[in-house]
Amino acid sequence: MTKISKETRQKLKTRTLLAHAGRNPEEQFGFVNMPAYRGSTVIYPDAAAIRKGTMRFVYGTKGTPSTEALENAWSELSGAAGTVIAPSGLAAITLALMAAVKAGDHILVTDSAYRPTRNFCEGFLKPMGVETSYFDPYAGASVANLFRPNTTAIVLEAPGSQSFEMNDVPAIAQVAHEQQICVIMDNTWATPIFFPPHERGVDLAIEAGTKYLSGHSDILLGLVSATPQWLPKLRRVYDLFAMTPGPEDVFLALRGLRTMELRLREAERQGLEMARWLATRPEVKEVLHPALPSHPGHDIWRRDFSGSSGLFSIILHPAPDSAVDALLDALELFAMGYSWGGYESLIIPFDCKPYRTATQWNPGGPALRLQIGLEHIDDLKADLDRGFAALKNAMK
Ligand SMILES: *Cc1c(COP(=O)(O)O)cnc(C)c1O
Repeated sequence: MTKISKETRQKLKTRTLLAHAGRNPEEQFGFVNMPAYRGSTVIYPDAAAIRKGTMRFVYGTKGTPSTEALENAWSELSGAAGTVIAPSGLAAITLALMAAVKAGDHILVTDSAYRPTRNFCEGFLKPMGVETSYFDPYAGASVANLFRPNTTAIVLEAPGSQSFEMNDVPAIAQVAHEQQICVIMDNTWATPIFFPPHERGVDLAIEAGTKYLSGHSDILLGLVSATPQWLPKLRRVYDLFAMTPGPEDVFLALRGLRTMELRLREAERQGLEMARWLATRPEVKEVLHPALPSHPGHDIWRRDFSGSSGLFSIILHPAPDSAVDALLDALELFAMGYSWGGYESLIIPFDCKPYRTATQWNPGGPALRLQIGLEHIDDLKADLDRGFAALKNAMK
């Protein structure tokens, strides 16, 4: 966006920024969009260029104009010093952790973290000599009681995967920074559009671009944005692993970026309408959506977040698995599948009990996670009506 002056650019609203960030038509023969640069080899014009290392791009794993465009756009959106792009959200999580820890360290992870994050800590970090302990997502500043002399990182995720507990990010970041502990946060749910991670004290912020950045359930991608202090360490690990994304996925992510705010705001509107409707249903015991005043993390959400996305959970009144399965199988529009953030609605049963260690998961009924897509809300409600009728029938 070379034509846009620095002064104009600093004042741009998010929607405008997303339309222009990471684009430079003058360098693309006037074409609006950055093409998908594919390539390993970059040709040097002469021997001096090789010896002096003056080239902007040097090799495929070190970045292409496409990856640089997405990195720059994401950094601008996130208020970050820089961003690296990985081939999946989980790969981004592992990069952030590898940038922050070494053998002999101890790290803290919120008990409601994305389960594969825990698996990485137990399955990879532990054998490499890094010990993980888990904490109550609502611990706030009292998490400092769990700090040890060798604690080097704390991993947050708000709201928590599946169960939607909130972390008090600024309070935790403050006590962590007093001990030079790196604050890592999985910000996939809110995205930087609804939660500016670095402004709130996060050092390394993770986004599964697979979700709302893509918006179409057709790519896997992960991003880690960093503060000036943490960027060199992140870049170093990134270069060591050469954990680069595929060019097609980068292209599609740049395309998704242009409509991301529109889709996210619609997901928020639809998600809230559905959450409020579900709260009135006799079959539903509880709706786990932080933007509802009944949610235990609502005050944190209202203080720190500027919006909510279309993913939340519900707890049904006690029912046998067979009746819940009847509900799920009766649905025609809500599909069952993992991941979320696409244009289509999804539903999945879950149970956090088997893997929680710092807190207990006793919701008092079967739990379902819903991703509300872009379909008409009346059709989605009718679909859930069908499901609830099947549940009732199976309970007779
Ligand atoms: C999906 C997800 C990820 C991982 O993204 P992938 O691209 O599927 O690896 C990480 N964190 C959260 C919160 C997610 O929902």
